[in-house]
Amino acid sequence: MLGLYKVAPEGVDVEITVETSVDPRPAAPLGLPPRPREPLRRGAAWYAGALHAHTVHSDGALTLQELAGRARHERLDFLAVTDHNNTAHQLEAFDAPDLLLIAGEEVTTPGGHFNVWGLAGERAYVDFRVAAGDPAIQSLAAGARERGALVSINHPFASCFGCPWTHPVPEVLDAIEISDERPEARLQALAMWDLLLRQGRRVAAVATSDWHRGAAPLGVPAVRVFAPELSTPAILAGIREGRVVVVADASLPAPVVSVRAGETVAFTGGLVRARPGEALQVGVQGAPEYDGARVDLLWNGEVVASGVLPAGGEMRFERHATAPGYLRVHLFAAGGTLLALTNPIFVEVAQP
Ligand SMILES: [Zn+2]
Ligand SMILES: [Zn+2]
Repeated sequence: MLGLYKVAPEGVDVEITVETSVDPRPAAPLGLPPRPREPLRRGAAWYAGALHAHTVHSDGALTLQELAGRARHERLDFLAVTDHNNTAHQLEAFDAPDLLLIAGEEVTTPGGHFNVWGLAGERAYVDFRVAAGDPAIQSLAAGARERGALVSINHPFASCFGCPWTHPVPEVLDAIEISDERPEARLQALAMWDLLLRQGRRVAAVATSDWHRGAAPLGVPAVRVFAPELSTPAILAGIREGRVVVVADASLPAPVVSVRAGETVAFTGGLVRARPGEALQVGVQGAPEYDGARVDLLWNGEVVASGVLPAGGEMRFERHATAPGYLRVHLFAAGGTLLALTNPIFVEVAQP
C-alpha cells in the first residue's frame, strides 16, 4: 500500500461499501490488553532477540500470538514487532509470559525503511508520509527519539522497489541493519556503518531476519544484547550503547571481547582511554560453538590481525594506541560463514 496516501491533483474516485449485521455484537472495548509485567527476568545477560518481524497487521502471515509462539519455540528472549506503518499489534492479546515484546514500527517510505523500537500506546506510530530525499526525515527520526524510541535504518541496500535508503542519514540514529539476503548488499551496509563510525557517529550494527512468513527461523540472523535485566528500557539502552553482538543464529552465545589499557578495561559498546603508544590488550573469549573459528580483529573497519580460536576459546591480540579509533571482532566458521560480529569498543588517546 506504499504510496496509497498520495493522490494526484485531479483527485480520485473512492467507493466505500459498508456491511452491517442484523445481529450487532457489542463493540470490543478499545485499549491495550494486559502485558506481562517487566522486567521479565532479572540478572545481567546477553539476551537474544529478533528486532524486525511482521504480523498480519501488515504483510506478515502470522498473528501476534503465532509469532510470539514461534519466538518462544526458538528460545528468543525478546521480539520487536515492526509492522509497516502501524503499531496495531498492541491491540491483540497474547500469551507468552516469558517473552519480552517490544512495540515497534517499520516506518516505510518511498526513500527507504527505518525501524523504531519502544513506541507504546495503540495510537502511537511514526508518520511515514515523506517522499524520497525529503529533509522532513530528520524531524520524523528526531520526533521518534523524543518519544523514547530508538531509530534504526533497515536494509539500506536492498534491491526491492522503495527499499534502499535514499534519504539523508538522520542526525538521530541509533542502529543500522547489516543483514540482507544479498551478500553484496551486506558488504555495502557494513561499509556504510563503518563510514558513520569513522565520522564519529555512535551507531550500533544489528542483524535481523525481517521475518514475514515461511519455514525460515525468526532468529537467523539475530542479535544478542547485554542488559542488566530483560525489560524494554534495558534492552533499548543496551542497543543505544552498542552492547550488541550480531549472531548468525540466535542460539549462538555472544563472544566476550575486552580491551585493556593499563588498569582500565572496556567491553563491547564501551570506551577505553589510553596514553599515546600504550599497549592495548584485546581479549576474545569464545564458547564451544566457536572452537576453531577464525577470528578477525578490525581497527576502524580494517582487518589488522587474524587467528584461530582454540578449543577452550580464549585468545589475545596486542596493539598500540597511536590514534583514536574503534576495535571489533568478526568470527567465521571453517567454511567462511560469518558466525558473529561484535559492536565496537572505542579507544580514546589522551593528549600527552
Ligand atoms: Zn523493509
Ligand atoms: Zn520489514
